[in-house]
Amino acid sequence: MDTNNEHVHCLIIGSGPAGYTAAIYAARANLKPVLYQGIQPGGQLTITTEVENYPGYPDGVQGPEMMVEFEQQAKRMGTDIRYGLATEVDFSVRPFKVQVDEEKWLEADAVIMATGASAQWLGLESEQRLNGFGVSACAVCDGFFFKGKEVCIIGGGDTAAEEALYLSKICSKVHMFVRRDELRASKIMQERVLNASNIKMYWNTEVDEILGDDKVEAVRVKNNKTGEKQEIAVSAYFVAIGHRPNSDLLKGWVDMDESGYVKTIPGSTKTNIEGVFVAGDLQDKIYRQAVTAAGSGCMAALDAERYLSMLEHLKHSNNSLQENNQQIKTGS
Ligand SMILES: Cc1cc2nc3c(=O)[nH]c(=O)nc-3n(C[C@H](O)[C@H](O)[C@H](O)COP(=O)(O)OP(=O)(O)OC[C@H]3O[C@@H](n4cnc5c(N)ncnc54)[C@H](O)[C@@H]3O)c2cc1C
Repeated sequence: MDTNNEHVHCLIIGSGPAGYTAAIYAARANLKPVLYQGIQPGGQLTITTEVENYPGYPDGVQGPEMMVEFEQQAKRMGTDIRYGLATEVDFSVRPFKVQVDEEKWLEADAVIMATGASAQWLGLESEQRLNGFGVSACAVCDGFFFKGKEVCIIGGGDTAAEEALYLSKICSKVHMFVRRDELRASKIMQERVLNASNIKMYWNTEVDEILGDDKVEAVRVKNNKTGEKQEIAVSAYFVAIGHRPNSDLLKGWVDMDESGYVKTIPGSTKTNIEGVFVAGDLQDKIYRQAVTAAGSGCMAALDAERYLSMLEHLKHSNNSLQENNQQIKTGS
């Protein structure tokens, strides 16, 4: 390990709404934050088009544009924003150690991790091509754009069931494609979905392709038992087969749930390691919204500020104690 490590007071990893909000608060609290953006500067919202539910934008805003504004605000407050990927951490020592781009090691008094989560996709070429043009991994974010239209959703777990029900209240009809012959969702969610008059179930059904040149127009599905294919006209395609938190880096260091979401001390952004905080989708498998990610980024910076103040206080107390002991020893 490099012995000439750069020392950072407050290190933030991730440049989505959580990371940039943490940076704005940390910079204004004079924590001199350094933020590493990772391979997706701006985070998940850079792969979407219109964002209509972030407060303060009465006419809506394009996701990438909004994230440039987050970045500018964090920069204006004094955040040192850098392009780079955290590749390893060592939280066994203080200051903590974080490696960037597999070469440079940094030392940090406090670390805020905001590496987000990634939606899981089926892997179809058309999912990528039409992403933001009717293809979405977030019903709460994009359902409203398809008010009164027919849409489809893929998945059979609790999230898929919840999102199907959410869509059923906005859209005229929801076609739900389930790979197996039953839902994996909890009993209560199953009942709600099966009783919804405008959700049509397709069992043993997999999506073959999403059809449309520049926006979703239909899906071609295949029954995996009979091989029979059919095309169904829809205006949007929602995938709800799971999310993966970007937490590999933290495995073995901080407590996580079975899906890899980092556990926090309730009501805070504190992890089981004092001085390491988490914000945004990395610790949130329920809400997963830009505004909630930003809110927890604010909490993480405030938690980090209190922790760093306590460290300073302890350092001064120890110094005074040592000075007193020295004076007693020398009789001065
Ligand atoms: C298609 C789509 C549309 C959406 N639309 C909306 C919407 O309309 N409204 C809404 O509220 N929410 C929407 N969301 C959800 C919203 O984008 C997320 O809830 C939010 O972005 C989470 O913010 P975050 O800061 O936790 O993480 P993310 O936005 O996921 O950002 C994670 C950041 O961490 C960085 N990173 C990851 N690993 C590392 C590493 N090892 N080192 C350094 N950096 C790293 C990445 O580069 C990225 O910058 C949408 C999501 C998607 C996918």
